[in-house]
Amino acid sequence: MRFETAAIHSGQPPDPATGSVIVPIYATSNFVRSHIDQSDGYEYSRVSNPTRTAGETCLATLEKARYAPLFSSGMAAETSGLLRPGDHLICTRDGYGGTVSLMNQIAPQRGIQVSYVDALDPQRVADAVRPNTRMLWLESPTNPLTYILKTTALVEVARTYNLLTVFDNTFATPYLQNPLEWGIDIMVHSVTKYLGGHSDLTGGALVYRRDDLHEPLWDQQAIAGGILSPFESWLLLRGMKTLAIRMRAHCENAMAVARFLEAHPKVVRVLYPGLPSHPHHERAKHLMRAFGGMIAVYLQTDRASVNRFATRMCYFRLASSLGGVESLVGYPATMSHGSLTPAMRAELGISDNLVRLSVGIEHIDDLLADLDGALAQL
Ligand code: PLP
Repeated sequence: MRFETAAIHSGQPPDPATGSVIVPIYATSNFVRSHIDQSDGYEYSRVSNPTRTAGETCLATLEKARYAPLFSSGMAAETSGLLRPGDHLICTRDGYGGTVSLMNQIAPQRGIQVSYVDALDPQRVADAVRPNTRMLWLESPTNPLTYILKTTALVEVARTYNLLTVFDNTFATPYLQNPLEWGIDIMVHSVTKYLGGHSDLTGGALVYRRDDLHEPLWDQQAIAGGILSPFESWLLLRGMKTLAIRMRAHCENAMAVARFLEAHPKVVRVLYPGLPSHPHHERAKHLMRAFGGMIAVYLQTDRASVNRFATRMCYFRLASSLGGVESLVGYPATMSHGSLTPAMRAELGISDNLVRLSVGIEHIDDLLADLDGALAQL
C-alpha cells in the first residue's frame, strides 16, 4: 500500500457492526464482557479504544513502524519515562522550547541528568557521553531555525555507546522522512501539528518498531493514562487522510515564500532547507523527500517593528503552534522559546528580529501579497 492509500485505509476497514465507511467515534469508557475469565478485545477506554486503535494503526503504517501509541499531547508523549533516577540524557541544543522546559523542570525531579549539546556536530555528542548516559534526544529540522542534523553519524554515535535514540519528527512528518529507517529507536510527534493538520486537536504520539520497548511504553500510555480521546483520535484520522496532499501544498507554498523573502530588501536572512543558501541544503536533499512548510526569517528591523509586521497581516496570523492549513507567524523569543533564558536564546540565534512562519495552503498569490504589504510597513 502506498503512502496516500495507507493514510486513507490503514486500520480503517468498514465498521464491523454497521458497515460505516468511516471509523466511528467510540464514545464509550467501557465494553461488556461475555465471560468473567476473558475479555472480548476491548475492556476500558484508557487501556484501548477502537477509534484510537485505528489512529495508532494508521500512523504506525505511515511511519513504517509497528507501534504508535497516541497521547493527549506531544508533551504527554515526551514525558513518558523510560529513564530511571541516576540516568543521563543528551539533548540537542536546538529544539522545541517545551522539550527544553521538560528537560529543565521535570527531568531533574525524576533524578535524570540532562546535558544540552550542539548536535550539529556529532563529535560533541560523543564527547558528552558519560558512563550513565542512556538516551540521545534529537529533532530535525530543528525548531525554529530548520537546521538539519547529521542523523547517520548521530545514530553511529548512539550505537557505539549503546544509547537509545529519540527523534522529534513533528516538523517533517512521515510524508517527508521516516527516521526509523535511519536507525532511530523512538519517534515523537506532536500530532497537534501537520498530522492533525487543521489546528483543531491537541495530541501526541510515540512511534517505534522494537518489541522490547513496547511494554514499558504501553505502560506509560495505558497505566499513566495520558491518552488521546476517541473524538480527537477521529479528528486525527480525518486529518491524516489528506496529509500527503496537504504536505505537497505546504512545501510548494513554503518554497515560493522563502524565495520571495530571500530577495526582499527588508529581510536579512531566510532559513528554509529547500533554499540553496541554507547551510544544510545538501543534507536536506539527501534526507528529506521535500523541505516542509516551516521558515525562519530574520527581518531588518527592531522588535517594535517586528510586532507591527506580525500583527498587521490578514492571512499570516500571529499565533502559537504550526502545521495547520492556515498560515501563521510566530515570534520564537516570546512564544515557542519564551521559556528559555535570554542567554540560551542568544546562543541559539533566537534574536529579537527573528520570526517563524508556518506556511499554510492558501493561494500563494494571497500569501505573497500579505507578506509584501507587511514588509512595506517596516
Ligand atoms: N515537538 C515540537 C517540535 C513542537 O513544535 C511541539 C509543540 O509546539 C511539541 C513537540 C509539543 O507538542 P504539544 O503542543 O502537542 O504538546
